[in-house]
Amino acid sequence: MFSAREYVKAKSLEEAWELNQKRSSVIVGGMMWLKMGNSQKGTVIDLSGLGLNTIEDRGEEISIGAMCTLRQLETDEGLERAFNGVFRECVRHIVGVQFRNGATVGGSVYGRYGFSDVLTCLLALDSYVELYRGGVVSLEEFAKMPYDRDVLVRIIVKKDGRKAAYVTQRNTKTDFPVIACAVSRKGDDWWVSVGARPKKAERIQISGAGKTAAQLAGEAAGQFSYGSNLRGSAEYRAHLAEVYVKRLMETLEKEEA
Ligand SMILES: Cc1cc2nc3c(=O)[nH]c(=O)nc-3n(C[C@H](O)[C@H](O)[C@H](O)COP(=O)(O)OP(=O)(O)OC[C@H]3O[C@@H](n4cnc5c(N)ncnc54)[C@H](O)[C@@H]3O)c2cc1C
Repeated sequence: MFSAREYVKAKSLEEAWELNQKRSSVIVGGMMWLKMGNSQKGTVIDLSGLGLNTIEDRGEEISIGAMCTLRQLETDEGLERAFNGVFRECVRHIVGVQFRNGATVGGSVYGRYGFSDVLTCLLALDSYVELYRGGVVSLEEFAKMPYDRDVLVRIIVKKDGRKAAYVTQRNTKTDFPVIACAVSRKGDDWWVSVGARPKKAERIQISGAGKTAAQLAGEAAGQFSYGSNLRGSAEYRAHLAEVYVKRLMETLEKEEA
């Protein structure tokens, strides 16, 4: 069971950051993941009073507050318009609506979980995290950073004209994915992100000039490493990644035509 001695609803990001410097403290998003664990904490730091629960279209970028829920990602009209439904597609298989009304974007990105649909999807776009002390860092860099005690304030996604598409395969509905693939495209440039390999999502960029989707998908999927777990073998994942990346590329090509 997860328990804590004290609960503090932070009045400022500075207060949240200071409280979080103690090793026994923990920031909570929706607590959906934390409550599955068995730890006993000193202070639980709640960010829900800091206005981080909005998605704002700032013209050239969209800002997603850390306390936004996965359900907000799914239903936000601005995100839907800017990124042709890729956020809806990436979260809609995560457990169920009630769960997605609780789990936060901040908890999902901070966690950098190997199975993360949200991380896989965001990596294919021009995404950044804003950390209270660390400032704005590209998501690609953040995904590789060690866990520290900073506060994740928001996610920023640039509206740079990329079109994106997303798909996962699950052995059974609502389970963790066996493989998660996101592809985005701007002109001849393609970004491919593959998660649940079962390692944490990574992203590569390739140029598509003069190549077919099948050639590009083979090239892209071959650049990732794959592992085995109870959901699938490394060989199976490598095969799935190539097939799904090709399909996503074809989808984006059709949309452009
Ligand atoms: C049963 C179950 C099934 C799931 N299935 C999937 C799935 O199929 N696909 C998928 O992508 N995800 C899945 N998830 C993960 C889920 O979508 C969320 O990513 C996860 O619950 C974390 O979000 P949260 O708001 O609950 O975070 P919490 O549990 O509150 O926190 C998670 C971690 O993030 C830290 N944290 C939270 N917010 C911040 C912040 N602003 N700054 C710094 N640190 C912060 C916490 O200290 C903690 O370490 C699943 C989770 C569960 C419990």
